[in-house]
Amino acid sequence: MPTNTKILTQEFEYFAPKTLEEVLDLLDRYKDKNTKILAGGTDLLVKMKTIDLKVDYLINIKDISELNFINTDEGLKIGAAVPLSHIEKIEKVKTKYPALYEGIKSMAAIAIRNMGTIPGNICNASPAGDTVPPLIAYGAEVKLVSRRGERTVLVEDFITGVGETIIKAGELVTQVNIPEINKNSGSAFSKKSRVKADIAKINLAIWLEREGNLCKDCKIVLGSVFTKVVRAKKAEDLLKGQAVNTDLIIEIAKKASEEIKPIDDVRSTAEYRTDIAKVMVEDTIKIAWERAGGEL
Ligand SMILES: Cc1cc2nc3c(=O)[nH]c(=O)nc-3n(C[C@H](O)[C@H](O)[C@H](O)COP(=O)(O)OP(=O)(O)OC[C@H]3O[C@@H](n4cnc5c(N)ncnc54)[C@H](O)[C@@H]3O)c2cc1C
Repeated sequence: MPTNTKILTQEFEYFAPKTLEEVLDLLDRYKDKNTKILAGGTDLLVKMKTIDLKVDYLINIKDISELNFINTDEGLKIGAAVPLSHIEKIEKVKTKYPALYEGIKSMAAIAIRNMGTIPGNICNASPAGDTVPPLIAYGAEVKLVSRRGERTVLVEDFITGVGETIIKAGELVTQVNIPEINKNSGSAFSKKSRVKADIAKINLAIWLEREGNLCKDCKIVLGSVFTKVVRAKKAEDLLKGQAVNTDLIIEIAKKASEEIKPIDDVRSTAEYRTDIAKVMVEDTIKIAWERAGGEL
């Protein structure tokens, strides 16, 4: 059982570089050691204090101006140093990406959102991370950079399990890219937690695109119901290309609740998660459909 010391008792070397070039040099130099990027620290420092995570080299990226940007020209491009609380204030996030807006607003208190970042939430790879379902629903990618080069990877493929990602030694996430939203699409986020701003018992994001009364395309993404955030692909297939009505939505919600594989843990039971998933998927599809201009 790890001890929460409330203070950092382990020794480590701390760097506060001012440029991305410096970060890449440090990551390359210490790629064979226990080296971690520090963004907001709202996950990392907690883990270091409970001493279940040993870090030798800590590289703070919060002072790097190249990573502190939000570009709204085409979709959304968000740098790795941008605090969550800045993202929730962007008008385009509120109006065009409501699932992301609602996901961020559901997280913790403002003090944590003033520190925490989207890449921190993604790289922490918790199955309950609240930005992850919306990002997967919107088809977002992370840009990974190292001395070896650059690559972009879908958030959906980046996280592989509890606390596990495909990031390699020497790499960091420099930005998150979210594609432009098509006209006639709608999205929504929903979360159940013990109290407001707590970690999710279950969370969910839906994105869909409407063509008349048909659902042209959709993603149904659930968190806290498996070892990583997952899409309910059989339920998505039931919705795609179909005329949307209340009976169909009820059928899709049932299918989604059958596809997930939740477990019993400190936050909830598998039984509750399965039952509530049905209700949440039904309600959230209805909201997304209405936001897409659809009628029921
Ligand atoms: C009181 C409290 C309440 C919370 N409530 C919620 C909640 O409701 N919902 C929720 O989802 N989370 C919650 N969290 C968790 C946390 O706030 C979020 O996961 C946050 O987004 C983490 O971002 P960060 O920048 O602080 O990450 P950090 O702690 O700095 O980093 C987390 C991990 O990601 C790595 N990392 C960070 N940035 C990069 C990068 N650019 N490239 C490569 N690796 C990187 C770090 O090395 C570390 O392994 C809560 C935390 C606290 C303390």
